[in-house]
Amino acid sequence: MEIFRDIRVRILEDDVLHRHGLGTHGTAASAHVIKLVSQAIEEGYNLVEPQAVYDEMLAHLTEEGKVVLATGAVLDNPHAGQDWQGLERVALAICTIGSKLEERVSELFAQGDPAAALILDTVASVAVGSISRQIDTMTCQRAQEWGMVAGPRFSPGSVDWDINDQKVLFSLLPADKIGVSLNEHLLMVPRKSVSFVVGMGSGVPVPKARRPCWYCERLDCPSREPGVDVIV
Ligand code: SF4
Repeated sequence: MEIFRDIRVRILEDDVLHRHGLGTHGTAASAHVIKLVSQAIEEGYNLVEPQAVYDEMLAHLTEEGKVVLATGAVLDNPHAGQDWQGLERVALAICTIGSKLEERVSELFAQGDPAAALILDTVASVAVGSISRQIDTMTCQRAQEWGMVAGPRFSPGSVDWDINDQKVLFSLLPADKIGVSLNEHLLMVPRKSVSFVVGMGSGVPVPKARRPCWYCERLDCPSREPGVDVIV
């Protein structure tokens, strides 16, 4: 098990604008909006507390496509049978930016400034996304070192994976060491946290679009997604 705290968070202006349908891939943002976003990003950098807890362990698939881990725990990701075919190992991660940023968002709402609150909330989402992508990239690099392929990452509770498996994930990782817990609805607290599992194996199919390559500097990797430059 490893805990990461020296994670360099990247909050790109275009990512924030994009989530509001603006910027390079949407409607042009006004100078006023760009200024608000830039102020929110600056505030975001001051308030994020990036942390992640991570572990890897042996695992295999049952005939029914359930993921059985070395500890005996079972994860029931409905995509595993197809996307993690040939599974030999899993990486498990919980990432967070802590609670300061979301507390500031609540404060802005309470002060009657919903526009600033919404932009800062988007900044928080981009920040936690940046952490999870970096951990995902590291997972993919480690899979390469094991001579394996990292399949796509999946999160309990997203797409059609039952959120009850959050309990299994949280029983395997000491989330309390990075200040993350589950509430009665199995949602993570702080809210801007991400949990995920990546299946690895020498026979795991290469994902069609390997988004971690966008953040990976291994330009000579034989499994690199063609034509993908590194985003810094
Ligand atoms: S270049 Fe892509 S496939 Fe290769 S290790 Fe990096 S993220 Fe993984």
